[in-house]
Amino acid sequence: MATTLDDLRDLFALDLTGAVLTCGGCGERTELHAHDLYPDAPALVVRCPSCTAVVLRFGTGGGRIRLDLSGTRLLTVTAPDPAGS
Ligand SMILES: [Zn+2]
Repeated sequence: MATTLDDLRDLFALDLTGAVLTCGGCGERTELHAHDLYPDAPALVVRCPSCTAVVLRFGTGGGRIRLDLSGTRLLTVTAPDPAGS
């Protein structure tokens, strides 16, 4: 089955705390919850625990949601169980 833009809905409906990010700077693979989080920056800033590069920025405001993954080489999430169990 081909992947479509509709599949992005599944990504953003998931709990991403267990997602694994591969740092674009050093290549370290780490679960999102184990990163260094800076919630009080202008946006939520997530830094790589190995090299401290910014791997993710997330912010809301002005009726918009912004997600910057330019510092992430790869985001891996376990697919939901279609049976819902
Ligand atoms: Zn890194």
